[in-house]
Amino acid sequence: MAGERFEVEVSGTRLVLVQGDITREEVDAIVNAANPDLTPGGGVSGAIHRAGGPLVTESAAEIRRERGPLPTGDAVITPGGELPARWVIHTVGPVWHGGAHGEATLLARAYRSCLALAVARGLRTVAFPSISTGVYGYPVEQAARVALRTVRDFLGEHPGALDEVRFVLFSQADFLAYRTAASG
Ligand code: ADP
Repeated sequence: MAGERFEVEVSGTRLVLVQGDITREEVDAIVNAANPDLTPGGGVSGAIHRAGGPLVTESAAEIRRERGPLPTGDAVITPGGELPARWVIHTVGPVWHGGAHGEATLLARAYRSCLALAVARGLRTVAFPSISTGVYGYPVEQAARVALRTVRDFLGEHPGALDEVRFVLFSQADFLAYRTAASG
């Protein structure tokens, strides 16, 4: 069912879980689960590039030309183009290889890089998708625990630096996995 929502406060920041489409979110920045080449691809990335239009795709391509492939766990920022969000923060999550290849560390690093970039740019509201749990194959229950722990830790270290961090979960199953991780 759409419209599901869960909210807690962490160190002066609202931590919100909603079920929905991240391309519709009215926040300072939405996060893209990008590929290292920053091309549109499928999944959430394809949706963000489609909704944001050429400014997003061309800005991402320019960063790729200048810097080469984006390493897993790093983040870069482009304008949001035609999206309601002013900015898109592109990060590359890890591909799941069974869990013993540093996946959790890399996933945490991806969330942390996005949050640090948002704070450095003075942004106040950020929305994340469930990074790595689509094509990259990270089991959603485990990814949810890493994501929420990382965001909580970051907010504890940067109290009041952000007004809201929102997770926008595409399916009800994903929403429930994140809600379980958030309330457990
Ligand atoms: P990755 O390659 O990091 O696994 P995917 O885009 O394949 O990235 O999937 C990441 C998550 O994004 C999946 O849970 C997928 O269901 C979800 N997703 C796809 N489209 C959207 C959207 N428009 N808004 C929010 N989440 C989305």
